[in-house]
Amino acid sequence: MAKIYKNLINGKYVSSSSGKTYKNLNPANQDDIVGIFPLSEKSDVNKAVVAAKKAYEIWRKVPAPQRGEIIRKATDILISRKEELAKIMTREMGKVLKETRGDVQEAIDTGLYAAGEGRRLFSYTVPSELKNKMAFVFRQPIGVWGVISPWNFPMAIPSWKMFPALLCGNTVVCKPATYTPASAGEFVDALAEAGVPDGVVNIVYGSGGKVGEAIINHPDISGVTFTGSSDVGKRIAEVCGKTLKRCSLELGGKNAEIVMDDADLDLALEGVLWGAFGTTGQRCTATSRLILHQKIHDKFVDMLKKRTEALKIGNGLNEANEVGPCVSEDQRQTVHEYVEIGSKEGARLLCGGEALTKGKYAKGFFYKPTIFIGVTPEMRIAKEEIFGPVLSVIKVKNLTEAIKVLNNTRYGLSSSVYTKNVNSAFRAIEDIQAGITYINAPTIGAECHMPFGGVKDTGNGHREGGWTVYEIFSELKTVYVDYSGALQKAQIDTWD
Ligand code: NAP
Ligand code: MG
Repeated sequence: MAKIYKNLINGKYVSSSSGKTYKNLNPANQDDIVGIFPLSEKSDVNKAVVAAKKAYEIWRKVPAPQRGEIIRKATDILISRKEELAKIMTREMGKVLKETRGDVQEAIDTGLYAAGEGRRLFSYTVPSELKNKMAFVFRQPIGVWGVISPWNFPMAIPSWKMFPALLCGNTVVCKPATYTPASAGEFVDALAEAGVPDGVVNIVYGSGGKVGEAIINHPDISGVTFTGSSDVGKRIAEVCGKTLKRCSLELGGKNAEIVMDDADLDLALEGVLWGAFGTTGQRCTATSRLILHQKIHDKFVDMLKKRTEALKIGNGLNEANEVGPCVSEDQRQTVHEYVEIGSKEGARLLCGGEALTKGKYAKGFFYKPTIFIGVTPEMRIAKEEIFGPVLSVIKVKNLTEAIKVLNNTRYGLSSSVYTKNVNSAFRAIEDIQAGITYINAPTIGAECHMPFGGVKDTGNGHREGGWTVYEIFSELKTVYVDYSGALQKAQIDTWD
């Protein structure tokens, strides 16, 4: 029997106001129903916002260390349920168990960091220019946040947003991706079970067009935190701009790995296999382009072909499999369209290039790991985000050209360079246009206590993760305390 999930509004589990529901199916096996979810609309969002606004008045007054304590309890629940949650996630989005365990672990790490942050939330005290006067700032919450997340990191991303938002004293209304509502639902359950007061955390399931739009347009939502595609990000920024809402956006990527002629090729090979085909290429930080120095190009391509063709594809619940399905038939279709575009543009298919539809693959959305060689920087497959198991290989003459090619995209999230030359490494670190650069490691592998985000069309300048995410979810109050007993005039009076 599939589990029936309900919206959580004001501490109560409720159906959508229309009573409508939808089924969440396993992309590796469409016979497997992961859960049944409310199909909500604007009126459900309105109720959630009323609850969150009321709860804000209570929650913002709870001392931050105590908010941290509740977050720690929620984290303990995630720790105790880690294996079960990883299985649910593999069933709802397809990535293999090793990776879904990692996704839950990222939520756990983020929770532990947030719990500790309850006793920090540092800000500044600075000297005043006048005698007998103190000047300092401190962090205050902002209000009700709309949390809108994508399907590829179904628990990690909601946790990156909600743990820090709550720790700062905000309340939230979240809408998970339609493809992956269960992981977010289980995450919110852990918070409720840990004792978050009613209305502090609300979840409303449903489509981006209805529930998402209702959230971003609601006048009592003070801020929207969004991770997803650049197109939807622009729409959100537009609405938030018109209504002067705070808005943090984490958007698409077209990440590249550069392999120089002096690199450890075996190491670079492991990196690109993990970066390009982990999560079936459906990561914002996936390695989507491989930029090879001409001296090692042919050898490396041979090594890569052999290993890619040997990757085990199948249902992620089977520990032997390394690559799961695409999240949906639509996504698989998009991948295939890009493969056709690549072929038309004149790139050469090295391996893959087709859907797997027979036998044990028949009930899922599997696609063969695919590599194009002979790709040039101007081709669409070299510039646009594909979000699937497709790698474009580009040959270059030297590091300068490699960096130029890497930068030739509207995105700028992650990047990677394999080299043993320290000078090349530091030049790359300085000149690559990306929020994240890895040296001798793949484009994926962010740690939750480091700032995370990108430049150019990948975002609007915020950094999640680490200490920087607390800057998104709090505002500074500037305070002057004059204990001189006299009117002192800044810029006018002097010390004598
Ligand atoms: P998406 O289509 O942009 O959707 C993201 C979320 O926005 C979903 O919950 C979606 O709801 C909702 N949404 C859609 N239209 C909306 C609207 N008009 N108003 C409000 N909400 C709306 O992205 P996706 O396909 O789920 O995820 C893949 C994308 O996310 C890729 O571009 C990837 O690079 C990016 N991503 C970025 C990062 C990062 O940190 N930079 C991390 C992970 C993923 P529905 O599910 O109902 O459509
Ligand atoms: Mg699903």
